Amino acid sequence: MASVSSAPAQQVIAKFGGTSVANYDAMQKSAGVVLQTPGVALVVLSASAGITNALIELAQGCPRAQREKCLKQVRDTQYEILSRLPENAAVHNEIDRLLGNITTLSDAAALATSSALVDEIVSHGEIMSTLLFTEVLREQGAQAQWFDVREVMQTNDCFGRAEPDTAVLRTRCDQLLAPRLSQGPVITQGFIGCEAAGRTTTLGRGGSDYTAALLAEALGCQRVDIWTDVPGIYTTDPRIVPDAYPIDHITFDEAAEMANFGAKILHPATLLPAVRSGIPVFVGSSKESGAGGTLVCDNDPNPPLFRALTLRRQQTLLTLHSLKMLHARGFLAEIFTILSRHNISVDVITTSEVSIALTLDTVGSTHTNGTLLSDELTAELSALCRIEVEQNLALVAVIGNELTRAHGLGKTIFSALEPFNIRMISYGASGHNMCLLVPGNDAEDIIRALHRDLF
Ligand code: ADP
Ligand code: ASP
Ligand code: MG
Repeated sequence: MASVSSAPAQQVIAKFGGTSVANYDAMQKSAGVVLQTPGVALVVLSASAGITNALIELAQGCPRAQREKCLKQVRDTQYEILSRLPENAAVHNEIDRLLGNITTLSDAAALATSSALVDEIVSHGEIMSTLLFTEVLREQGAQAQWFDVREVMQTNDCFGRAEPDTAVLRTRCDQLLAPRLSQGPVITQGFIGCEAAGRTTTLGRGGSDYTAALLAEALGCQRVDIWTDVPGIYTTDPRIVPDAYPIDHITFDEAAEMANFGAKILHPATLLPAVRSGIPVFVGSSKESGAGGTLVCDNDPNPPLFRALTLRRQQTLLTLHSLKMLHARGFLAEIFTILSRHNISVDVITTSEVSIALTLDTVGSTHTNGTLLSDELTAELSALCRIEVEQNLALVAVIGNELTRAHGLGKTIFSALEPFNIRMISYGASGHNMCLLVPGNDAEDIIRALHRDLF
């Protein structure tokens, strides 16, 4: 297995996900990882596990009884950690102030919410986890410094899935963050940012991985360590296939395909800055930091034909039929123009003589949950063609290398799939994947059957 301890002392960013900061015990383990890993200069944190979900419910304006339940969950999580720390009135007061804010903003959201308000409420999860983790590190003797990432992470105002301005990030990191890194570990928030007018934004679900990679690029760090609840990237989600096994080394291309096609272990955009700047990414478990993990780096002399299987749930398939397509020019352009106007990117696509089938890219936004098909979009498309919409599908991707050159690949894959209905197949655009759109209820069985036969 790959290991972090072999790395020379360099500037390293350590990112801890929700389960790694879920409660006091988890924070203590993660603090141990920070102190034992040579070179950790900057720590990027998610909110404690479950807190972002609770805050999203509050921000979307849930009924009073549900609101009370979510507020209690948020409060209990913070108080459990506070109660195990040495008495510190300043931190206690600050957490109480933030909890008060959440309550007030949730009351406002119950009357009328907005995408900016959702991001404002949700950001409290990361603010609180970083404040508490800073105290846990100080208790262990570190000179930890809390830093508000919004001072450097300027984004556009696309709330829920904001895109950072990397030029501004670099300049501000040089001015505001780099000088602090030599004074003890700096603790900051993943996932959140700030648009030019000062309103808080978020980078999309799971976005803390992306924050860590962006900061590593801006600061010129030598490695990003992603500490999570599994010791590395596995051949598939170990929750679905208990026999899945961890991968020692994986290339940026393969890991990016995995992230893009739904392997939750990495946010899909995480590897962009890492690839651009050639920064290796290590993935390991904060609970078993000595158990090794996966190193994502730029090459593998012996890439395997089959690398991994991924699953993306809640897919919507749109099939567009029109006789106008027959030998016509420009029909696809019209469709894509409409989708682009609605800010939707097409994910997987196949065409026939008079129809196109496509899935919509629903990855990632803090606000949308699976479906993007608004009434306006449906109306605009219906004016051009007949539309069929199928929901509750899942996208299974076989990730590998030079798949388009392998002989007998179809037989191996399709014999595993024999008992199942396959709704759509996409293969050939990249040698790194074959995508299968399948009924949502069969998806896990399909992953298990493929894993049994391919790995
Ligand atoms: P964090 O909160 O630390 O960011 P996530 O829940 O986002 O953690 O990601 C870790 C989870 O990703 C694991 O618990 C696992 O169930 C899931 N997962 C999905 N695909 C894979 C894979 N190929 N290898 C490892 N974990 C995977
Ligand atoms: N807390 C955010 C989420 O749950 C970001 C993250 O965990 O990376 O999506
Ligand atoms: Mg994650």
